[in-house]
Amino acid sequence: MHQEILKGLPDDIKLVAVSKTKAVSDIRRVYDVGQRIFGENRCEEMRKKFEELPKDIDWHMIGHLQSRQVKIIALFVKLIHSVDSLKLLQVVNKEAAKHNRIIDCLLQIRIAKEETKTGLSIEEAEELLSCGDFKNLKNIRIIGVMGMATFTQDEDIVRGEFKQLKKYFERLKEEYFASDDNFKEISAGMSGDYKIAINEGSTIIRIGSLIFGRRCVK
Ligand SMILES: *Cc1c(COP(=O)(O)O)cnc(C)c1O
Repeated sequence: MHQEILKGLPDDIKLVAVSKTKAVSDIRRVYDVGQRIFGENRCEEMRKKFEELPKDIDWHMIGHLQSRQVKIIALFVKLIHSVDSLKLLQVVNKEAAKHNRIIDCLLQIRIAKEETKTGLSIEEAEELLSCGDFKNLKNIRIIGVMGMATFTQDEDIVRGEFKQLKKYFERLKEEYFASDDNFKEISAGMSGDYKIAINEGSTIIRIGSLIFGRRCVK
C-alpha cells in the first residue's frame, strides 16, 4: 500500500507514515521499502522508537504536545506539526537550545467545525506571530501550517476546509514570512482525505491506517 500511495504522489509532496501505536517491527518493514519520515503522537513512544530504529529516520510529532514532555523529544524531533500556543513554542525553544538545535515547527490552525479539533484560530496565530516574545525565539523556526479537516464523508466540507487552510497559509506568508523561503509547508491530509488535500495545496500528508492497517486504539 505504501508503494501505491507513493506512485500517485507528485514528487514535491512529503509523506509522513503515521506509526503511532504500531510496533517497531511494523515500522522496520516500511523503512525497508524506503520510507524515512515517521509520525507519532506520544513523546515516550516516539523516543523509544527513535532509540530502537535507524538514525536516518526523520521523526515528526503530529499529536497534541504538552510543554513538560518536550524535553523527551527535543534531541531528535525533526518537525513538530502541532504547535498551538506561544507557551509551547517557548518551551520548544528552550529545550532546542539545550541541544544546540533549531527545531522546525508548524502552527496548527483550527479549520474543522468540530469542537474537538485543537489548534489556533487564524487570529490567534497572527497574535502569536506579532508578539515580541515570539521574535526572540532563536531556536525554533516556523516553516508552515498544519490542519485537520472535519471527519465526514462530505467531500465538499473537507475540500472547503483545506481551501481555507491554504488561504490562511497565504495570509500568514504575506504578513509575516514574505521574505522567508523556509515558510512553505502545508501539512494536511490523512488516509481518508489526502487526495483532496493535495488538490488544495497540501505539501505534507500524514498517512497511518492506509500504510499500517487499522489501529486498535487511538
Ligand atoms: C493518527 C493521525 C493521522 C493519521 O490518520 P490515518 O487516518 O490513520 O491516516 C494523521 N494526523 C494526525 C494528527 C493523527 O493524529
